[in-house]
Amino acid sequence: MKNEIVFVLEPDSGRATVEFSMATPNILRELRKELGEPITVNCARPATSGSPAEPIPSDLGQEGSVRSGSTTFIDLFRLYHYSTVDGPGRRSVVQVAGCSIRCPGCYVPETHEAANGKSTEVVEIIAEILANRADHDGVTILGGEPFDQPAAIAELVTRLKDLDINIVVYTGYTLDTLLNKKDKRIENILKMTDLLIDGPYIREFGKRAGEYRGSTNQRSIPQPDVT
Ligand code: SF4
Repeated sequence: MKNEIVFVLEPDSGRATVEFSMATPNILRELRKELGEPITVNCARPATSGSPAEPIPSDLGQEGSVRSGSTTFIDLFRLYHYSTVDGPGRRSVVQVAGCSIRCPGCYVPETHEAANGKSTEVVEIIAEILANRADHDGVTILGGEPFDQPAAIAELVTRLKDLDINIVVYTGYTLDTLLNKKDKRIENILKMTDLLIDGPYIREFGKRAGEYRGSTNQRSIPQPDVT
């Protein structure tokens, strides 16, 4: 796991914004000493707007377990690279933990419980994807069920799109079911998805399912229409 600290300095206002994915209590103490008492701004929200800023707790726990309170976490089952079966080309794969759908005969029952995953910061996932970027053609998000974590996955796909990375998403929901939820976070994910594989796994339809799919009822939908 890499520590990363980014400083954004605003000479006009004299403000400094410090973004960190992981930082030890020592580093945070030093920052406090140099920069003064901090306030959290939660995803770079201006400190003067929204809900009142929260002070960063001074007791930040043991080294390596610091949680900033201003980052988003995904229940991650595993992150792997060089897959050629989860979408076009060679892909990095974000496999989330937790699935409320529970298709009979699912190939990955070990991913059904969120507790089987590890709560992992989105920025940490992005850092590992970027470290392997030269060797992949895009990122696939599958599960578990990605749309059971809409806020965290929306942040992940937003950051991936900012980096111009091709995105494939697998879901056990049909596209219609997702749209009927009328959830902006879900719509945002769909808008940024280059290829959606939708629908539950149905064992009876498992033979000759076709490229990237587990059963023939599932559909490959390029750039799903959310209008
Ligand atoms: S949606 Fe996917 S992970 Fe969930 S039970 Fe169905 S096949 Fe398994």
